[in-house]
Amino acid sequence: MNREKILGPSDMADDDDRTLRPQRMADMVGQREVFERLSIAVDAAGKREEPLGHILFDGPPGLGKTTFAICIPRELGVPVEMSSGAALKAPKDLIPYLTNLQTNSVLFIDEIHRIPAAVEEYLYTAMEDFRIDLVLGEGINARTINMTLQPFTLIGATTRAGMLSAPLRDRFQLREHLDFYSDDELSEIVLRNASKLQVSIDDDAAMEIARRSRSTPRIANNRLKCVRDYATSKSDGHISLEIANKALAMWDIDTLGLDKQDRRYLETLLRVFGGGPAGIESIAHTMNTSADTLTDEVEPFLLRSELLIRTPRGRSATLQASTHMDIPITGNTGDNQKELF
Ligand code: ADP
Repeated sequence: MNREKILGPSDMADDDDRTLRPQRMADMVGQREVFERLSIAVDAAGKREEPLGHILFDGPPGLGKTTFAICIPRELGVPVEMSSGAALKAPKDLIPYLTNLQTNSVLFIDEIHRIPAAVEEYLYTAMEDFRIDLVLGEGINARTINMTLQPFTLIGATTRAGMLSAPLRDRFQLREHLDFYSDDELSEIVLRNASKLQVSIDDDAAMEIARRSRSTPRIANNRLKCVRDYATSKSDGHISLEIANKALAMWDIDTLGLDKQDRRYLETLLRVFGGGPAGIESIAHTMNTSADTLTDEVEPFLLRSELLIRTPRGRSATLQASTHMDIPITGNTGDNQKELF
């Protein structure tokens, strides 16, 4: 089919992502212990000409789970099939991936905790015995067909390891947890990616972008792209510390890496609820948003940065939050403090 593809914003984001994503494990910054263990496993599997044991990556979004999953097959010199837990709704959705597998190739399933139980059961025999037993038809006409698969490696990634069933979790030989990155590591990533994007950047500007990137490479990449656009539009394209500071201020990213929504949350908690304790529903109502959005997208970073605490009586801002926002804690005297979180 010769149809021209029109690029939307998400396609362009994908394109940039591809440019910046390390192509080999050795090009990845940080996660040294994970790197060492995987290098040994990859090396040994290559020498034995056997499939690598199944691997599960867990950790918050943007820390390199997919990047590892893409680099590993490259190290092994084998093809990779990519899917996602959300796309595998019924057992039949799994079949094309399993039957397309080549000897020792890799099947990557992102967000693997979203696989429904009925699909998961097919994975058990596939992972353990490289075999699937398909049931065709129903009732007395039902037939079971046993299919032998090529030996393969399943790489699963999840942001919620706790949601994975024990039988599935136990079938992974290697389980690797990815941790947040140090400012030095993120700064190294910013410097390397500036070079990939062909923009010049000063070391102190790279460190400033790193500091405001919540210890997460994906966020550092996004901040770098915003700063690059600002530098291109407002000056000669070079990223100095002054340009980085101005650009980040313009995108509403403050010195701790908080964005507009984070600050609105803290401001609401401090100004309206005296710093708390306040129930999440009350905070969400006041902010005109949903409690889920706040718990999933806003609170994790505030909790990690010790700007917020969760107590049985609700959310409270810390002294550090009060100082950062320059709003005093007066204590919550309203009824909402009775609401449990
Ligand atoms: P996850 O799958 O954990 O959500 P990704 O692997 O997609 O995260 O990482 C997001 C982006 O961050 C990648 O495109 C890559 O550019 C960058 N990145 C992640 N980990 C590293 C790393 N260790 N070194 C360099 N860049 C990284």
